Amino acid sequence: MKSYDVAVVGSGPGGYVSAIRCAQLGMSVAIIEKYNTMGGTCLNVGCIPSKALLDSSHHYEDAVKHFETHGIEIPGEVKINLEKMMARKQSVVDQTTAGIDFLMKKNNIDVYHGTGSFKDATHLNIQGDSNQVIEAKHTIIATGSKPTTLPFATIDKDRIITSTEALKLKEIPKHLIIIGGGVIGLELGQVYRRMGAEVTVVEYMDRIIPTMDKGLSKELNKVFKKQKFKINTSHKVTSVKRFEDTVTVTAENKKGEVVTFEGDYCLVCVGRSPYTEGLNAEAAGVKLNERGQIKVNAHLQTSTSNIYAIGDVIQGAMLAHKAEEEGVFVAEIIAGQKPHINYNLIPGVVYTWPEVAAVGQTEEQLQNNGVAYKSGQFPMRALGRSRASMDLDGFVKILADAKTDEILGVHMIGARCADLIAEAVVAMEYRASAEDISRMSHAHPTFTEAIKEAALAATEDRALHI
Ligand code: FAD
Ligand code: NAD
Repeated sequence: MKSYDVAVVGSGPGGYVSAIRCAQLGMSVAIIEKYNTMGGTCLNVGCIPSKALLDSSHHYEDAVKHFETHGIEIPGEVKINLEKMMARKQSVVDQTTAGIDFLMKKNNIDVYHGTGSFKDATHLNIQGDSNQVIEAKHTIIATGSKPTTLPFATIDKDRIITSTEALKLKEIPKHLIIIGGGVIGLELGQVYRRMGAEVTVVEYMDRIIPTMDKGLSKELNKVFKKQKFKINTSHKVTSVKRFEDTVTVTAENKKGEVVTFEGDYCLVCVGRSPYTEGLNAEAAGVKLNERGQIKVNAHLQTSTSNIYAIGDVIQGAMLAHKAEEEGVFVAEIIAGQKPHINYNLIPGVVYTWPEVAAVGQTEEQLQNNGVAYKSGQFPMRALGRSRASMDLDGFVKILADAKTDEILGVHMIGARCADLIAEAVVAMEYRASAEDISRMSHAHPTFTEAIKEAALAATEDRALHI
């Protein structure tokens, strides 16, 4: 039986990053992954393939709608070859997952393909092509999550689908009904909307992306309406039925009226649930909470002291970079270091176009916590860079402490905000004030100037270009 300092169960961004950090710190490491490819949800059926399709569909939309304005003429019709688009996406996924194989080898990490389950607190069964048992002083559980389902919607993986199937459709839906106006619904909805599908979003809450700042929801809703999305907020879905190739979704609106939507595909994306099936956590004394998440303390230690858990399977934002931070954190804890994660500064991004990005507290959170704050906002359309690229939608909003001017939250929507948000994270990590940002030179013409202008607006209401 092989023995390791650390065994990691699950090879998503949490698992593989923690394995690398443990190896860097001199530990002997095994990683167990039940699928044939490494990288978990993110690389195989999440972040990477969704962004590949968002990029391809964005190019198509530009070619159809915007090239002519730029003086670029394409003789003949611009067409989508969906098979080729999907093949390119798959090759991006394959290159990325192969990259993890390389990183495991480079760091001398033993990779086991099979389902890992606890025999006890220091032994794991690996059930794959052959069965084996390994011993580990410490185990890091990084088994991730799976799509949450609705009790009345049977996912047939054909017409009633989750994000996994939506990433590999063989045809462009005529009418895609999306249950859940959160991140997955809007990103994948935009992919198929750009390709010509009619897209209807049915959202339970009174706004799309309801966990983000209200201002962002409002602006994205406005832009999506321009893009001819049909958005139905405050709608409680009560049934999803398929008959032959038609899916009927029934919902109740806030007046109590029954509304039905008919389409050829229905994407159910109402969140994700922690995944612990087959792990046999009880055999190691590892406890779950009432939401099925693995219970951890501030050191991400489970109820069994030599076993840790990270990523989507524990509480907190279900984001790849959050899982990665936790992977590094746990490795350093095991090595006896004193790492720190500031969960308030984990940015959230929606990769639609315009992109939506945020870090820190929303206005609603500040109001609920009784924090006195000031707000500075600057519209993207006032930037020369935005006019040059015709990306006029959106704004940057900076929330700063009314007394100290410390930045408490940054919320933005517009072109390239997924990248722009990094400036806000750095600023807040160093506890910058809005005035600090307003006094820094921002290259012209760039979208980053909106951050400086919003900081000026927050400091003394003295934005320059508006
Ligand atoms: P996972 O990535 O889920 O990996 C867990 C791994 O554990 C899996 O490979 C699973 O097979 C394996 N496993 C489970 N049980 C066992 C077992 N018993 N034995 C062996 N192996 C096991 N996040 C972002 O930050 N940015 C994005 O753009 C983004 N886009 C997304 C798009 C989609 C469509 C989806 C679905 C998710 C997206 N996410 C995104 C979320 C992101 O994918 C997750 O937050 C992230 O993958 C969580 O990482 P993890 O390591 O905790 O778990
Ligand atoms: P989500 O939590 O982002 O959105 C789910 C939406 O469904 C919410 O708006 C919720 O109010 C709504 N909803 C819940 N029950 C409903 C019902 N019965 N009827 C109608 N609406 C209902 O979840 P998701 O979009 O499924 O994504 C899952 C996870 O994956 C998220 O936690 C997200 O962090 C992660 N993810 C991240 C990215 C990214 O970072 N860009 C992209 C995709 C997924």
